[in-house]
Amino acid sequence: MKRLVITILLFLFASTTFAAERPDLIVVISIDQFPYYYLPRFEHYFAENGFDRFIEHGANFTEARYPYAITETGPGHAAIGTGNPPSRSGIVSNDWYDRITHETVYCAADPRVTPPFSPLNLGCDTLGDRAGEKYPGAKVVGVALKDRAAILMTGRKATEAYWFDPKIPGFTTSTYYTAANRTILPEYNATVPEYVKSHTVWEQTTFIPAADLQRITHDPEALRKYKSNPYGLGVQFPHPLESVSAVTTSPYGNGLVIAMAERVLETEKPLLLYVGLSSTDYIGHAFGPDSLEAADNVVRTDRDLAGFFEYLDRHYGDRYTAALTSDHGVQSIPEVAKALGRDAGRFGMGDPHKNDKTFADLAKHSPERVQLEKSLAETFKIEVSDATPLNDRLVHTFQEPGLYLNWDRIRALKLDGEQVKTAVRDALRKMTGVAGAWTSSELNAPNPKATDVELAIRNAFRADRSGDVLMALKEGWIWNFGPTGTTHGQPVEADMHVPVMFYGRGITPGTYTTEAAPTDIAKTLGALLDVDAGGPDSHVLPCVEK
Ligand SMILES: [Zn+2]
Repeated sequence: MKRLVITILLFLFASTTFAAERPDLIVVISIDQFPYYYLPRFEHYFAENGFDRFIEHGANFTEARYPYAITETGPGHAAIGTGNPPSRSGIVSNDWYDRITHETVYCAADPRVTPPFSPLNLGCDTLGDRAGEKYPGAKVVGVALKDRAAILMTGRKATEAYWFDPKIPGFTTSTYYTAANRTILPEYNATVPEYVKSHTVWEQTTFIPAADLQRITHDPEALRKYKSNPYGLGVQFPHPLESVSAVTTSPYGNGLVIAMAERVLETEKPLLLYVGLSSTDYIGHAFGPDSLEAADNVVRTDRDLAGFFEYLDRHYGDRYTAALTSDHGVQSIPEVAKALGRDAGRFGMGDPHKNDKTFADLAKHSPERVQLEKSLAETFKIEVSDATPLNDRLVHTFQEPGLYLNWDRIRALKLDGEQVKTAVRDALRKMTGVAGAWTSSELNAPNPKATDVELAIRNAFRADRSGDVLMALKEGWIWNFGPTGTTHGQPVEADMHVPVMFYGRGITPGTYTTEAAPTDIAKTLGALLDVDAGGPDSHVLPCVEK
């Protein structure tokens, strides 16, 4: 009898210590376009249970940076899910040029399935794939506004990925996910029209006192013409929300995603849930990170997170672990940066528009692209003028951060391909705003003396998908996609430095100043599940015992 009691006690002890380690649920939240500098800028105005949950009670890695150059949504979410940079995940950009089909490939495209989105292009396993192997039947689910966020974070063996389609309006998935629970969609989507109808205007909150707002933003009337006006929102408060897309371009987009995430938790009970909040990205692109809109959105998103954590506390108590990060940061609107005395600009490398016929047409929106062509013409003694037809260009396609050469033209002119690559590289290096340029041949060979910028480019390069020449812009400079708004995508502090924070079961709280990266998230959370996830260059972060 005594022995039996001891055995039972030992069994209870063993099972409780095991349970104390492994969480019942891991939630990974990615806030699309959330530079680290938002945290110190806005933390005085946070509520108790949102970001402060991580800052006060969790593990906050204050020096977490992406280790690669193409700081975009596709590569970022692939990095969060797989723990690998684009050189290994294969997601070298949001879009790349396929040299065989001569078509642009979208990172989450899959022509086999309906609608045509899946992780087909993803080149390696995710934490979800590893967890699914270790715990048969465990579910891995993604919920995000953007398809590529839900798809690339969860991975090839995911149970389900749901993303938002304003045309429905509501969440959808693709036939790739054969296990998908299709009944959740019509049930949830029936609630969307009412939600949209009850959010007709975005008014400014008073979470940040007016005097402080003046100090921490830079949004004078005279610079508002450099903001974009997406979906009729206008460029100042109050913003009318007259369509579904307008609602997702406001902080109210968070509510759509979080409500769906909660429904997934109730009906699917996943082990791993990935949540992608992308309204912050739409707001940042349109109004810039220094705007009143960005400020209001961050403090509103903080309250939305608090609501989500209250839900998780209620349903999971202390049996869950949460991670929070972002797929990339963002740079100031260049005209705002210049007004603040910083070096900044828009760099026009974009491809010809549909009706462009000559170099003069292209120069209207991509002046640097034509400057490059003229410089190449000089090097190779080719006659070009503003009237030269665009078919004669030597750079065929630009997909960030790479240039794909016009090999038909190179052959017709009997030029040496390597010499053209080198000439493109050298011409780019001389242009204002350029931090560096490298040929694919250079990147295919090791370089022990590579600078930080070159290392970031190397981590973004995969020979079959990347351009013939890759380039990077200086801090402050962005690709010119139009005269207003801003973007990200460079190997610069504002784009690379993002939050990496953990909270909950298995996490030792603290402020960690050790080097870290969002590519460490998969391996770190994998340690909690006793699975070996993440790439060969990623680490288990010190908030988790190895
Ligand atoms: Zn993004």
